Amino acid sequence: MSGLHEECGVFGIFAVEKTDVTGPMFYGLHALQHRGQEGCGMVVADDGVFHDYKDLGLLNEVFVPSVMAKLGQGNMGVGHVRYGTSVTNNRANCQPIVVRHSKGSLAMAYNGNVVNTEELREELEAKGAIFHTTSDTEVMSCIVAMERLHSASIEEAVCKAMYRIKGAYSTVLMSPTKLIALRDENGIRPLCYGQTPTGEYVVASETCALDAVGAKFIRDIEPGEIVVFSKDGIKSIREHCGKRPPSLCVFEYIYFARPDSVVDGCSVHEARVRAGAFLALKDNVEADVVIGVPDSGIDAAIGYARQSGIPYAIGLIKNKYIGRTFIAPEQKTRQDKVKLKLNAVSHVVSGKRVVLVDDSIVRGTTSAVIVKLLRDAGATEVHMRVSAPPFIGCCYYGTDIDNEECLIANRCSMEEMAQVVGVDSLGFLDLTDVGKLANTDKECQYCMGCFTKEYPAEIPADRNKIKYENKYEKKISEKESN
Ligand code: SF4
Repeated sequence: MSGLHEECGVFGIFAVEKTDVTGPMFYGLHALQHRGQEGCGMVVADDGVFHDYKDLGLLNEVFVPSVMAKLGQGNMGVGHVRYGTSVTNNRANCQPIVVRHSKGSLAMAYNGNVVNTEELREELEAKGAIFHTTSDTEVMSCIVAMERLHSASIEEAVCKAMYRIKGAYSTVLMSPTKLIALRDENGIRPLCYGQTPTGEYVVASETCALDAVGAKFIRDIEPGEIVVFSKDGIKSIREHCGKRPPSLCVFEYIYFARPDSVVDGCSVHEARVRAGAFLALKDNVEADVVIGVPDSGIDAAIGYARQSGIPYAIGLIKNKYIGRTFIAPEQKTRQDKVKLKLNAVSHVVSGKRVVLVDDSIVRGTTSAVIVKLLRDAGATEVHMRVSAPPFIGCCYYGTDIDNEECLIANRCSMEEMAQVVGVDSLGFLDLTDVGKLANTDKECQYCMGCFTKEYPAEIPADRNKIKYENKYEKKISEKESN
């Protein structure tokens, strides 16, 4: 219930013969809808000819049967679900982006954030490039297309482009004959591939999308790796592998990914249960019941309960029919909005000392409302435990933690935070335990930038303007008003 958002999920499919690639793409993207609900798109390649459709909205609102029928069959496809900023939430910025160049067409979709988009765009514009969107995917596509002019193959062009593109980018792209999956040198966002029982290869942000199309997981794409799917089979290009330490976003385990996914070899559910257990190991609170904030606080609450011996119960119910984009018909207070989404189970919490487990605290305002819900339902004490360390830094790699001042941990001491949220006690996951979420035996390397302000990859030169899209929109409106 952090209120943070991932920015996108990707899906790609390769078949040797023409078949229904649109149906599996729909189901795969549907499984990834939690990674982006504001827009979506698909491109289908039919014998080298691209058919594409994208729009704002959820997958089942955009890809109605008539649209699916128009996309038809093909032998490859790439698709995308998007979370965008409100400023740039328009159809043109939805992905995949299709560019046509003198050596063919290119369709690209990615998850992450390119931190040097501004420099790349200015360089390309100075050379005469004209952009139709404010999306950094278009800039990436343009870089690859330009490299393609001087390369023997699309994969060679992609490999050259990776020397120029900085940041986090788990990407699927498609030429008229090849599907290519690549991950930035740090592997900040997840990406994996598998094979369906009928032989098609599928690439996805998370394994839950492979499950949705009945595909067997083969492996994760490695940080820096380029994997090429073509009629000649599968080829791995490792020129960029091992150049940087692997640094998966640890928040994928804590919040972003679906609990039924396995990311870089670790079950997301297990990682969350472990986080809850770590919290309980260092705790000595006396309580009657452990409850989790749906959805991502549930697994950690189970872990806390198992470790502490305090019974777990379902103390908060989430209304499943309220999406992220739900707009109340009239002006509502924050409390009313949270109440639309969550309700306390008074039979579980009334008269009880409650341990409340959530995945994060950003500003503290939503947590305060949840705590009040519990107190109104009769909880006598509320002890909040958070399955992540406190946020102190921005995220530059594809999520919307983009303002340090708004983070409660930067404004308040632990006691002040407990007071703001209205709890009897407050505890966070130790930084030292974060490295053990995937594996208790050995520490793994992750990106923990928003908890430590130490970032594994480049960050934008102008830290205050991390969102090129926002800046570009501002530039356009300034130009128009002159
Ligand atoms: S800064 Fe935080 S949210 Fe962003 S990639 Fe790193 S761990 Fe994930």
